[in-house]
Amino acid sequence: MMRKVLVIGLDGVTFDLLAPWIEMGRLPTLARLIEEGVSGTLESTSPPISSAAWASFATGKNPGKHGVVDFVHPEENGYRITIVSSKKRGSKALWNLISEAGGQVGVVGVPVTYPPEEVNGFMISGFLTPSSKSDYTYPPSLRQELDEKLGGFQLLPSEKYRSTASTDKFIEDMIADIEKRTEAVVYLMGKPWDLFSCVFWSPDMMQHEVWRLLDKSHPRYDPVAAQAYGEQIIGFYERLDDCVRRILARVDEDVTVVVMSDHGFGPTHNFFLVNTWLEKMGLLRLKRGPLTLVKYLIFKAGFTPLNAFRIAKALRLGFLRRWFRFQRGGGLMKRLFLSFADVDWSQTKAFAVGSFGQIYINLAGRRPQGMVRPEEYEGLREEIIEKALEIRDPHSGEPIVERAYRREELYTGRYLERMPDIILVPQRYEYMAFGHADFGSHRLVEPIFGLSGHHRPQGVIILWGEKVKQGETIEGARIIDLAPTILYLMGVPIPVDMDGQLLTEALRPEFVSQNPPLFSDVGSDRESGRDVYSPQEEEEVRERLKGFGYVA
Ligand SMILES: [Zn+2]
Repeated sequence: MMRKVLVIGLDGVTFDLLAPWIEMGRLPTLARLIEEGVSGTLESTSPPISSAAWASFATGKNPGKHGVVDFVHPEENGYRITIVSSKKRGSKALWNLISEAGGQVGVVGVPVTYPPEEVNGFMISGFLTPSSKSDYTYPPSLRQELDEKLGGFQLLPSEKYRSTASTDKFIEDMIADIEKRTEAVVYLMGKPWDLFSCVFWSPDMMQHEVWRLLDKSHPRYDPVAAQAYGEQIIGFYERLDDCVRRILARVDEDVTVVVMSDHGFGPTHNFFLVNTWLEKMGLLRLKRGPLTLVKYLIFKAGFTPLNAFRIAKALRLGFLRRWFRFQRGGGLMKRLFLSFADVDWSQTKAFAVGSFGQIYINLAGRRPQGMVRPEEYEGLREEIIEKALEIRDPHSGEPIVERAYRREELYTGRYLERMPDIILVPQRYEYMAFGHADFGSHRLVEPIFGLSGHHRPQGVIILWGEKVKQGETIEGARIIDLAPTILYLMGVPIPVDMDGQLLTEALRPEFVSQNPPLFSDVGSDRESGRDVYSPQEEEEVRERLKGFGYVA
């Protein structure tokens, strides 16, 4: 018999928001877990992107070892932007290891688990599942069971009212989503499991959207809307707290409960146009053809996707806005605006893909038109880092880039080559890199719109149960520490190639002394597979990522 663990993931929640509400007595379940358990901040991956962070949660490894650093990656041997799937993860996850050890697992809605994996138990895939028509459950028959018992499983909250004036309807949709998810989780907990892991995605979506209404110092703070919707927003978190209560009501007292987030959250004020900067620096070159030249001149004159989108929004041309959303990165937009299709790769030294300033060097031998010779590589990285640290915000005059890392400073492992060559950390994380394919604006900095909040490195961890200390705080816990700690709690051997450490300081000394950890010399690597999306599925997923500003 394995000892049981329940993981409740609340994507993106942060004590910066929760602590005052807990203090006010408005989140009684979380308050109780904190009081009776061990809590603290949880350091995410770098950059703190959900896909990388959840993969690190599941594997106990840094992104260099599991190979997932963002939702999108440039093709390793080309320039196409590909979307990650569970196949890309080059390491076994908790659910694989526990299944192999004979335990039963239930996995519900963990991001980047599509296609669902064959496990001893069941799995419902999370964010990046193309649509409700996809085969998103293992076993496949579970989908029909959910249709029959629950009237279907809601993969994602409705995005209908996202970035519209109907904030109240948007919040109602978020509440409806956590209700539906809780109903499904409570039903599925009736099946046998040793590890049950579920994720609520809505808090992340909520915070991207409404941060400006919670933060008086945000440039897009709107006192009237903040007044109108403030209570409703807290109401969402109260409901989330109640969902946690209802899930906990289903567990026996010997179960260890982990409530966690994959990263924190904070305000975002501006976009930083990384590819526009690289082009200005002459590190990224456009083709010489007449069509690209025309597009370039139009771009320089300010006819850019961001401006067009903004104009459509200001004029309340809803249909035009939807059309832009639909077209961004797609057919006609590519013909109207500058895109990666206009890049002269044979003359380009560096390009950016990602919302956190990830820069890739166009190295000879690595990519087909790679033009940076290996002997130039170090010098070029040095030059880019130096210049990036000098970039100033044209409005405030302050540096935009707070720190810049070479990839080997952040990552180790066999997928190091897949990682971005340089990672720029934006000032206080208040700039969101607009680096996902293409050129959003001819300016280096544009005020944020649509979103108003974005990720921060410090997430949340709460451990609770009879094996956990009571009323203590923990410092320095990292998301990679969870997988080994969960295996330890369950009595499953810990693969020695995991990077995380056991959080034994959170556990009762009697438990730790009676249960020496078991380690396994067999590593937990597995092959990182090809992408699995059909062109149509890829389009659907891309659409969804655009809503988060992850893809231009
Ligand atoms: Zn997240």
